[in-house]
Amino acid sequence: MHSSGQHTVFISVGANLGDKMGNCRFGIAQLSARADVDQVVVSPFYRTAPVDYLDQDWFVNAALRLTTRQAPLELLDTLIAIQKQAGRQEDKIRYGPRVLDLDIIFYADRVIREPRLEVPHPRMHKRRFVLQPICDIEPAFIHPVRGQTVQALLDRLDDDQQEIFPIDA
Ligand code: ADP
Ligand code: MG
Repeated sequence: MHSSGQHTVFISVGANLGDKMGNCRFGIAQLSARADVDQVVVSPFYRTAPVDYLDQDWFVNAALRLTTRQAPLELLDTLIAIQKQAGRQEDKIRYGPRVLDLDIIFYADRVIREPRLEVPHPRMHKRRFVLQPICDIEPAFIHPVRGQTVQALLDRLDDDQQEIFPIDA
């Protein structure tokens, strides 16, 4: 049964427009303030090189672990609303510049493949900027499809292009 109770969720946070760190903090604060979100753990922040669409500014990235009673699609709508509040406009370029990006990486051990929502996030295992901050929070968390820990997925990544640097708090 998944319809009630608390679910552990990992969310990736990113921004590369405006006050990047401020936008990430805004998103984290909005989410943390909700009555139906508890036990929020925030990773360190990283400065990261863009991937996929390279002709854009560096990102600030972090990750969150939290518990919530919200169902996956409800949580997605919550994240989309917070992105809008942060001033995010409709995207012109896929993977292009954004004021705030909040993606659901894991929703407990659920596997969801729907048009609006794919969980685990289908590209997370290739992305250092997603894996590193999740490993900072819970390296032993097991990817429910790959059956490997997030730390093992990070160790397997050998893509030197994906530069990430910790930001001094
Ligand atoms: P991306 O983060 O991949 O660059 P966007 O943030 O522009 O893309 O999101 C586009 C759409 O991706 C969202 O409206 C949402 O419906 C869909 N989506 C699919 N899976 C997820 C997920 N795991 N987390 C967040 N959005 C998702
Ligand atoms: Mg997104």
